[in-house]
Amino acid sequence: MFHGKTSFEEARQQMVERQLAQRGIVDERVLQAMREVPRHRFVPEDLWDMAYRDTPLPIGYDQTISQPYIVAYMTQMLHLSPDDRVLEVGTGSGYQAAILSRLAKQVYTIERVEGLAQCAEQVLQDLDYRNVLVRIGDGGYGWPEAAPFDAIIITAAAPEVPPPLIAQLAEDAPLVTPVGPAGYQELVRLHKRGDQTQLEHLVPVAFVPLVGEHGWREWDLTAE
Ligand code: SAH
Repeated sequence: MFHGKTSFEEARQQMVERQLAQRGIVDERVLQAMREVPRHRFVPEDLWDMAYRDTPLPIGYDQTISQPYIVAYMTQMLHLSPDDRVLEVGTGSGYQAAILSRLAKQVYTIERVEGLAQCAEQVLQDLDYRNVLVRIGDGGYGWPEAAPFDAIIITAAAPEVPPPLIAQLAEDAPLVTPVGPAGYQELVRLHKRGDQTQLEHLVPVAFVPLVGEHGWREWDLTAE
């Protein structure tokens, strides 16, 4: 297979045009970030040829990098500004964090699987994306020392939005996350308005589970 820089570049421009722009992703900053970040670098090398397809891909440890359209859609729903500080739960490959890093000032991202966190950190460093901090741990607790956040994105599904994450949102800031059990989730967006939260239901999705105190317990998963 031909692995020239141009072929990846071309595949990426086509991905943005056909999978994103033609399907209603309209935020020009989001489209630009997706044109720029080399998605293939975030998947195992034997999958580089598939990196710009319209599909999630395996990244090891039973986890996946999300479909490009879902990454763009969730990012668009966050309405990021260049000065924002963003929290991501579920670093995985680091690709979503890389997209966020092009659109916000500082990205904080938490991953429970050490091997994935280390791999993501390495790729982000190789690409010289310096405004991303990667932490290993249970992201359901958030990153209290860095709170409040201007936006939060969770890229794994919990039974409900983890309360510590709502507590770490700035006033009026959005949180986008899948909610629900395996095979039956919806993407939601909530805003914190004073003591209240305002919830919007977006689209049906399929994410891997958020595992931990505020997610699904390991035994819920093995019991399936
Ligand atoms: N955003 C990722 C894809 C996420 S896959 C990307 O761009 O590639 C979901 C990730 O969430 C997996 O890597 C999984 O290990 C992680 N995860 C699951 N439960 C978690 C938890 N409680 N805290 C942090 N990460 C978690």
